[in-house]
Amino acid sequence: MFGNLFGKFSRNLAIDLGTANTLVYVQGEGIKINEPSVVAVNNRTGALVAVGRSARDMLGKTPPHITTVRPLVKGIISDFEVTEKMLKYFIEKVGRGKFAIAPRPLVVVGVPLDLTEVERKAVEDATFGGGARKVYLVEEVIAGAMGARLPTSESVGSMIVDIGGGSTEIAVVSLNGVVKWRSLPVAGDEMNRSIVQYAREVLNLVLGEKVAEEIKIKIGSAQEFGEQMEYPMRGRDLLTGLPREIMVTDAQVRDALSRSVRQIIENIKITLEITPPELAADIYERGLVLSGGGALLRGLDKIISQHSDIPVRVADDPLTGVARGLGMLLDDNALLKGIALPSTRETSVLN
Ligand code: ADP
Ligand code: MG
Repeated sequence: MFGNLFGKFSRNLAIDLGTANTLVYVQGEGIKINEPSVVAVNNRTGALVAVGRSARDMLGKTPPHITTVRPLVKGIISDFEVTEKMLKYFIEKVGRGKFAIAPRPLVVVGVPLDLTEVERKAVEDATFGGGARKVYLVEEVIAGAMGARLPTSESVGSMIVDIGGGSTEIAVVSLNGVVKWRSLPVAGDEMNRSIVQYAREVLNLVLGEKVAEEIKIKIGSAQEFGEQMEYPMRGRDLLTGLPREIMVTDAQVRDALSRSVRQIIENIKITLEITPPELAADIYERGLVLSGGGALLRGLDKIISQHSDIPVRVADDPLTGVARGLGMLLDDNALLKGIALPSTRETSVLN
């Protein structure tokens, strides 16, 4: 009874709790929060100093008593307390204002494929701790496929490749379930690290990861794309220890990223090989969809298509697909209950 009462007035939420970015979708309204998954904490008091974009801007620039934390690693909670605080901050932020006493929301949270029971429980507990009345966990790849408008409910094989910050998840989805999948710890963060490593080994330049990410986004590519580009790379000279700026070219950045790109392609091929023939036939005909921020790397769709012999499409707005897919589930309770992973708790307090 209370469940219904609260359900009527509370604004249910869908949260894409990513390694790089956290998005909050409010039922009936759309995406209301889209911020980096970064929190700055005061070590002396444990208080939050900043969350999201403002915390990310502090990365690498904090005095000793402030620590910036990325509480998720490869989609898995590595710092429970900070994740809980971050969720609480975001849930309260979107809940503020409408009613004098905002009822606690039902929350759908996206999770990676390779979570252990303990890790799954941590996501549930952190979301309850963040203020949820009821929590449903849904595999991100299914949400991403829904967000990309793939026919996830039908008996048709769809392949989704989600390239996030910490991991790439490759999945074959049919009838609202994941049939075959692979997950690899090679995605956006690893690409940034490859640029840092390249700068040190080839150019004698010590680079911060934020600078590496900027270069990747500005001129990074998986394949030549017709136009030649260059971009200033600012770092510290390995030999003199002094600041130095050099121009890097798209070819150099491509060289740095090639290993990550190769690993993603290899794993797509392996997933295709283990896919049952009927579903594989659907995928060869219909192609695969790239989602997540890594899908935006120039030429990645083309090089994957060339090496796998199947059509590849980049999802529209790939950074928000999972959040939009999870949001769709808020409007279809039966589908949500059918897709959600079994809860690690029997029941919540109020439902
Ligand atoms: P997560 O779900 O793990 O939080 P996202 O799907 O939000 O990850 O993607 C974040 C990753 O996408 C980051 O590593 C970021 O550097 C990368 N990214 C964002 N835009 C681009 C781009 N234009 N080219 C290449 N990588 C990008
Ligand atoms: Mg993601």
